[in-house]
Amino acid sequence: MNKPCIFCEIAAGRMDAELIHQDDQVVAFRDIHPQAPTHVLIIPRRHIESMTEIEAADAELIGHMHLTAKTLAESLGIAETGFRSIFNCGRDAGQTVWHIHLHLMGGRSMGWPPW
Ligand code: IMP
Repeated sequence: MNKPCIFCEIAAGRMDAELIHQDDQVVAFRDIHPQAPTHVLIIPRRHIESMTEIEAADAELIGHMHLTAKTLAESLGIAETGFRSIFNCGRDAGQTVWHIHLHLMGGRSMGWPPW
């Protein structure tokens, strides 16, 4: 039997996570291995494996994920100093969990480009 998707489990409340926000479309929680003082993941409730799978009908959902990142950046106090919001897509980008997630990171200065 295939292992259940951990982010589906978190979205369904069957697996613990430090939830920051949830609504009918998305759930946001703290990353278990934070790479910045603030590191939150915003996921859709619906399972989508990768950004290569999104379709035109998902435009509102993806927009909602970005607007949620902006709102959380404000409420978590990183909007003024700056933040990064990023989707890793595929092996070369370092995607390790196959349920799309928008990383929201802030609280330190970051380099560019990311290696
Ligand atoms: P990716 O490398 O872009 O796929 O990011 C996956 C992220 O999920 C990593 O930053 C992990 O630390 C994070 N992660 C994996 N499992 C969990 C968990 O159970 N709770 C919270 N974050 C997780």
